[in-house]
Amino acid sequence: METGIAGKRALVCASSKGLGRGCAEALAAEGVHLVMNARTDGPLQAAAREISDKYGVEVTPVAADITSEEGRAKVLAAAGDVDILVTNAGGPPPGMWTDWEREDFIKALDANMLTPIALMKALLPAMMQKGWGRVVNITSQSVKAPIAVLGLSNSARTGLTGYVAGTSRQVAGSGVTINNLLPGIHATDRAVSLDQGVCKAQGITMEQAQAQRMAGIPAGRYGTPEEFGAACAFLCSDKAGFIVGQNILLDGGAVNTTL
Ligand code: NAP
Repeated sequence: METGIAGKRALVCASSKGLGRGCAEALAAEGVHLVMNARTDGPLQAAAREISDKYGVEVTPVAADITSEEGRAKVLAAAGDVDILVTNAGGPPPGMWTDWEREDFIKALDANMLTPIALMKALLPAMMQKGWGRVVNITSQSVKAPIAVLGLSNSARTGLTGYVAGTSRQVAGSGVTINNLLPGIHATDRAVSLDQGVCKAQGITMEQAQAQRMAGIPAGRYGTPEEFGAACAFLCSDKAGFIVGQNILLDGGAVNTTL
């Protein structure tokens, strides 16, 4: 399928590894020039080099904490007016409802709700003026079906989802789409750290924790960053202009709902 986005420019946040990197690679494979971001410079530079060598696109790496105001300013200054925005950041830590104080919620809201909102606010006007733009927010399956130990994530990402539901309808008439991709478990470092939490809490091995998790996934496995990236590239394509304000689960069937 011809995605029609070769030569466009994308900002992909939190993209030196994992799902963000999967999205960056899939867009680069379609000929999209990238601004990539992560906090740690070394792995970010390496990922940027690998992607530009492999796909022949321009890649500008910007090391910054995307959840801080200064970090966002640095990234936005390097990015300029992009055609595509993929928002992402690390997820909040797991715990119990009794663990979380106001400060924990503020941190989670900043990272997983207010940061993507600030990035959209900065970048949507130029997309609307050009009459074409794509925004994909990486959220979580926890928006559709809560994951009890990820209460901070459940709360912050649901807030973002409400914002996108309304805003996507305000900008769609200008040729700009905003949608959310909801990952279920994918084989990334985040999954390793979540599984390590299960090992610790239940006194089981990593293999047991993974088998336990896979037993709840009809596909019988974890997803891959490549599969996730392919879905992102499709949503960013010129074929996806009629998909507005949707929440698309990539979870191997784990969330057991009809709709
Ligand atoms: P990951 O493999 O740990 O990768 C995270 C990436 O984001 C790294 O490149 C990391 O680099 C960067 N990053 C983290 N915090 C950042 C920040 N504040 N500013 C800039 N870059 C930052 O994680 P992942 O599995 O791809 O997860 C991505 C998102 O999807 C997370 O919010 C996660 O909670 C959510 N999610 C993941 C899964 C899953 O199964 N993997 C499922 C549901 C939801 P640096 O550390 O160098 O900054």
